[in-house]
Amino acid sequence: MLRVEFLGTGGAITTPRPLCRCRVCEEARRRGIPYSRMGPALYLHGPDLLVDTPEEIKLELERSRVERVGRCIYSHWHPDHVMGRRLFETMNQDWLGRPPESGLTEVYLPEKVARDFRRYLGSWEHLSFLEDVYGVVRLIELAEGEKIETNGFRITPIELAEDGVYAFLVEEGERRALVAPDELKGWDPPEPVRGVDLAVLPKGLAEFDPLTGERHIPEGHPVLKIEATFEETLGIVHRLGARRTVLTHIEEMDGLSYDDLLEVEEKLRGEGMNLTFAYDTLLLDAWEEED
Ligand SMILES: [Zn+2]
Ligand SMILES: [Zn+2]
Repeated sequence: MLRVEFLGTGGAITTPRPLCRCRVCEEARRRGIPYSRMGPALYLHGPDLLVDTPEEIKLELERSRVERVGRCIYSHWHPDHVMGRRLFETMNQDWLGRPPESGLTEVYLPEKVARDFRRYLGSWEHLSFLEDVYGVVRLIELAEGEKIETNGFRITPIELAEDGVYAFLVEEGERRALVAPDELKGWDPPEPVRGVDLAVLPKGLAEFDPLTGERHIPEGHPVLKIEATFEETLGIVHRLGARRTVLTHIEEMDGLSYDDLLEVEEKLRGEGMNLTFAYDTLLLDAWEEED
């Protein structure tokens, strides 16, 4: 049985954003979950697979129902998805044992993620250090088209339209889930992933306030060229045709609180969409209609 735990549902900018005094951040500070959102990561119970390591991953795991992290896979190289790499040292390293009996996490890198890790942010150098010097990870590069088979699950990296960014198709028998941590810009879901039982997708930026319809991001702003908007994401949701869709990677800059998103949810349900917004610590059974 596949269960998806949303460890962190924020985007590149978490909620609260450090020192921000806006309405949404102040509410998140005061009320915590589900109003606050740490960096983007999730855990797949069943395959025992962590997806991405934002800065807050240690804290996210501490408050989670996860019991061990046997495997981790990275979706792409961006800072908000990788900067918690030192997790593997703090979680796995045995300091006192002679000889040390450190834990080991298998870290999977789809081909182009491995390429980009060698280029950006020192990710490859750091992970190699954790492998060679501390022995707390084993790095495994996945060639194009290569899958992970484990515990009765098959996990296939699917490259999105943006070069070097991957989603993951998770299959258990006839059941299928698509997990896309970020970067849907320009993506048209290919046939093999259409009609999945569950889709986990990044929410996309609020170019317009989804409740009032007012423009939120100025027309012609450069961010609109590189990031998918919420409207574009809804188009992808329609084409993908999942039985159920959960949106995550929710940016502070949207200016939308948890309660605002519940209203958006209701509005979209009224239009016949089976769509919800994730919140930190949400745990859902992938093959159920509702949780
Ligand atoms: Zn991101
Ligand atoms: Zn704020």
